[in-house]
Amino acid sequence: MSPACLQRRRTRRVDVGGIPLGGGAPIVVQSMTNTDTADAAATAEQVARLAQAGSELVRITVNTAEAASQVIRIRELLDRRGCRVPLVGDFHYNGHKLLAEYPECAAALAKYRINPGNVGRGRKRDEQFATMIEMACRYGKPVRIGVNWGSLDQELLARIMDENARLPQPKEGDAVMRQALVASALESAAQAEQWGLPAERIVLSCKVSGVQDLIAVYRDLAARCDYPLHLGLTEAGMATKGIVASTAALAVLLQEGIGDTLRVSLTPEPGGDRTQEVGVAQQILQSMGLRAFVPQVVACPGCGRTSSTFFQELAADIESFLRIQMPQWRRRYPGVEDLTVAVMGCVVNGPGESKHANIGISLPGSGEVPVAPVYVDGEKSVTLKGERIAEEFQALVEQYVARRYGSGAAAALPLPAEKTIPIRALEP
Ligand code: SF4
Repeated sequence: MSPACLQRRRTRRVDVGGIPLGGGAPIVVQSMTNTDTADAAATAEQVARLAQAGSELVRITVNTAEAASQVIRIRELLDRRGCRVPLVGDFHYNGHKLLAEYPECAAALAKYRINPGNVGRGRKRDEQFATMIEMACRYGKPVRIGVNWGSLDQELLARIMDENARLPQPKEGDAVMRQALVASALESAAQAEQWGLPAERIVLSCKVSGVQDLIAVYRDLAARCDYPLHLGLTEAGMATKGIVASTAALAVLLQEGIGDTLRVSLTPEPGGDRTQEVGVAQQILQSMGLRAFVPQVVACPGCGRTSSTFFQELAADIESFLRIQMPQWRRRYPGVEDLTVAVMGCVVNGPGESKHANIGISLPGSGEVPVAPVYVDGEKSVTLKGERIAEEFQALVEQYVARRYGSGAAAALPLPAEKTIPIRALEP
């Protein structure tokens, strides 16, 4: 599917440390650390790993004086290793103090995330929120007004519930909650603008943990403003549940053109890999044809026609081969992230699916002649057989990439396989 099929919602463009959000810019992948920000070395290390995995913005917690004092050190450590990923500061309760008392922190961050439910109560709420906006204005930073239903502004919720109770036909509690979330984001953004923050420096989010609630809230938000929107299902959960719930919610919104940046909030296993959330976010965008990050391997699930694990192993090997090659290929072969490689288990769908890919292999199923035809740009190229099919197919993929994405006019043209591909076993 072409990304052109999707009409993106028109939004203002916000610059976050050189990364554009909204205004038709590519949808940005972001993530968040789970290290103690006061531990600058550990935080810089995790930020670097998230950035290397593809996170284009990384948010860090700024919750204490110790954390705020280390933000500049984290920035320096990252710059020293050539990692320029913009850092976003996540503030709750004391952000007004930390930003005012740690100017180096305020200057080093590329964006401030402010939760309007956690900036204070009563008269102090406006004063403290105003201070944070003043800091954003002083340092020329954009702000994400990030509402979360776990910390919704209780005074605003009470006001909206009172208004609802006076209606001839009051709405259900869930609908009132959703209304309050959207109102909190929009009213806070209007306040920020009144206090001098340009609309071109405001991003909004309204995160909830239920898929249907998230879709309803963002549809409403998108219809009522033109600020860029940060998508994310909050507290999505662990493993399969978190991935599926996030994908289900975000895919619906993205399909409707809603969303300018996203984070997949997965709970890692203890000691698990924090970068998983980045891979999932990328895969959502790539599966929908919205962005391309890494070559895709199309593999069938296997069935009773595949009596061994050979084709699963080949699919896994090719996938890891592509990932390992990508840092180098990205520089040498522009556009290689659009590559698709098919690894199929038998003749039923193997040749057809392989023809749709840039390069594909149809392995022999049970009872089939033990040969594996390879298709290049829709045409049967060579047939592999014997013990080294995996290595030979990998070599063919490598040659294809060099030919198709390398420099030179002939790059896009598949040449006759027999002349260009030194394989050990050709079709008998
Ligand atoms: S392509 Fe063949 S092996 Fe793969 S799922 Fe379909 S029938 Fe089974």
